[in-house]
Amino acid sequence: MGDSTGDITIVGAGLVGAMAALALGQRGFKVTVLESMPDIRTLPAYSGRSINLALSAHGLEGLDLVGMGDEWRERGIPMYSRFIHNADGSTSIQPYGQPGEHILSVDRRLLNIRLMEEAEKLPNVSFVFNANVREIDYKKKHLVFEAQEEANDGGDGGHSGAQTTSVALRKRSLMERDTDLIVGADGAYSAVRTSLLKSRRFNYSQEFIDHGYKELNMVAVDDDWALAKNHLHIWPRGSFMLIALPNEDKSFTVTLFMPYAAADGGFNDLDTDEKIEAFMTSNFPDAVPLLGNYVSDFKTNRTGPLITVKCSRYHYFDSVGMNSSFQDVVKFMALLDEYPFRTARRSLLGAYSAAQVPSGHAVARIALMNYIEMRSHTASTLFLLRKRIEGVLHAVLGDVWRPLYSMVHFTTMPYHMALERSAKQDRIVAGTVWLLASGAAAGGAWAVAHFFGSAIASAATSALTSLNGGVAPKVPRLTWARL
Ligand SMILES: Cc1cc2nc3c(=O)[nH]c(=O)nc-3n(C[C@H](O)[C@H](O)[C@H](O)COP(=O)(O)OP(=O)(O)OC[C@H]3O[C@@H](n4cnc5c(N)ncnc54)[C@H](O)[C@@H]3O)c2cc1C
Repeated sequence: MGDSTGDITIVGAGLVGAMAALALGQRGFKVTVLESMPDIRTLPAYSGRSINLALSAHGLEGLDLVGMGDEWRERGIPMYSRFIHNADGSTSIQPYGQPGEHILSVDRRLLNIRLMEEAEKLPNVSFVFNANVREIDYKKKHLVFEAQEEANDGGDGGHSGAQTTSVALRKRSLMERDTDLIVGADGAYSAVRTSLLKSRRFNYSQEFIDHGYKELNMVAVDDDWALAKNHLHIWPRGSFMLIALPNEDKSFTVTLFMPYAAADGGFNDLDTDEKIEAFMTSNFPDAVPLLGNYVSDFKTNRTGPLITVKCSRYHYFDSVGMNSSFQDVVKFMALLDEYPFRTARRSLLGAYSAAQVPSGHAVARIALMNYIEMRSHTASTLFLLRKRIEGVLHAVLGDVWRPLYSMVHFTTMPYHMALERSAKQDRIVAGTVWLLASGAAAGGAWAVAHFFGSAIASAATSALTSLNGGVAPKVPRLTWARL
């Protein structure tokens, strides 16, 4: 195991900074976390963005590493399927995987707090709040941050009520810090990343997609969840969608994803109570009665942007998704076993970049693909047919054939490998769907069952042979009835 003596400064105490602090602290490093905001435990619960998150295999692997996986397996609410609320009022259930496979809905704030609590138990880990990192000289491993000190304002010392007064009276001072390693976990608009832009051979791109999101809330009804609890609910409407994830307090966090501006309307057009009400009732009539004072929430809650950030060399824990970022931490910790921190830091960071750049870039693609799938494809018959074919193939062939969703959420396969494998599988499924669709059009379920059943089987066998390292797997004859 590599040595663990060294001083590490983490910028940002969000989910990823807190997780990294805990993992590195457990390894014995002296860790200081600088966070620009006040301690979230002192702030009102609503952060304005994604109150709950879907946690799956990669994220759980990270939590297992720091000894908290079982806590969140128990605490998270299992979601076994997408529950689709169609525009015509009908509903359907689309399982995520094989029976029992599920993702977990977890509370962002609680998870963040629990990670910080565990990290703070370690004598070698400390958090400094109200510490806004301004400048970084990454070559000298030197940081400058603006610290805010509470002045004696004569207030009641409370956190929310007294805050406005104390902010005005706070002293600000610039502080400096030298360290052995700087870890950027400061989110989408990272100051650490900005400092790296000046360095040579650092590639960077960012793209705001034309869509944003707004959070609404669905409270409990008669002390019970207002919708079936163990699903991720989706109202797919093509260019926009509403989703709802269950919370421990029996509410659902509801999020509207939509373009800012679009020919058929967008966030920018919904600027009066009447327009908001008309839009919501015409598109989500079954959800609206459960959304409480949604018009007020709509106006109060900010519309958040959706941004894709890609970098390489990639020496920081990125914010492309909690699950993938927790996996970044797992990878970094594994590499620490191979490369001693004191003597082989350059190789350690090089190996980290080499491993995580392809994976991180794949996550950016997967996230976008998933967004389009959720808001648009989940309402399509062809998509459902394709899902069923993939489900059957996975049920019959096990690990030889896994749908992309299953690889991403139920395994810890690196994301880029999941994408590559899925592209191969896609070609097979697309051919199969095409055959089925043209078979059905040509007429006759009988013909489809008998003729295309073997055609599918033979197409699948040859493609699977290549997936299976040249060994032909046993592919049972597929029939219409089995699909
Ligand atoms: C609507 C929505 C839904 C999502 N759903 C999921 C999901 O279901 N599953 C999933 O895995 N991911 C999801 N994500 C992504 C997930 O929220 C992020 O990947 C995750 O929050 C990243 O965590 P982080 O700690 O890197 O960044 P952040 O949570 O942004 O934390 C960064 C921290 O750094 C601090 N900071 C910023 N600048 C400075 C500075 N200069 N000095 C000091 N501190 C600083 C900030 O105050 C903040 O506390 C979702 C995101 C959105 C927007």
